[in-house]
Amino acid sequence: MSNSTLHATTAELDRLRAGLPVDARTGTHVDGCPLCQTAMGRWHQRAAAIREVPLSAGQRNRLRAARLQALDGAPRQRPSRWRLVAASAGVFGVALAFGLWLAPQSTLAPMDAHADIYTDSDFYLWLENREQNPGS
Ligand SMILES: [Zn+2]
Repeated sequence: MSNSTLHATTAELDRLRAGLPVDARTGTHVDGCPLCQTAMGRWHQRAAAIREVPLSAGQRNRLRAARLQALDGAPRQRPSRWRLVAASAGVFGVALAFGLWLAPQSTLAPMDAHADIYTDSDFYLWLENREQNPGS
C-alpha cells in the first residue's frame, strides 16, 4: 500500500490475518475500508470451507509444513546426516579443546595465570591493531 487510495495487498491482508504487525496506515485503512473488509471476509469463508474438507493425516501434515514454511519465508531443509555428523564432530572438537585448555598445566613450569591473560590480551590487541592498520 503506497498511498491512502490503494487497498491493502494480499500479503498485508495475510499478515493481518496471521496477527503479524503491519504498517499503522494499512491497519487503519483496512479497519475503515469496506473493500478490504470484504477481502478479509472472503478469506475467512475460504478457510472455513477448507476446514470442511476431510483430509488425511498425510495431507494435514503437508499443509502444516507448507504453512510453517510460508510463515518462515524461507525454504525449510532437513539437515543431512553428514551435516549432523560434522556438527557433532565440531562440538566434540570444541569441547575437547576447551577441556585441554582447562586441564592443569605442566608442573615443571608453573605459569602465572594473570600474566597469561595479559600476554594473550596484549597479543590480540596487537593483532587487531595490525589488521586495522596493515601498513604500520
Ligand atoms: Zn481498502
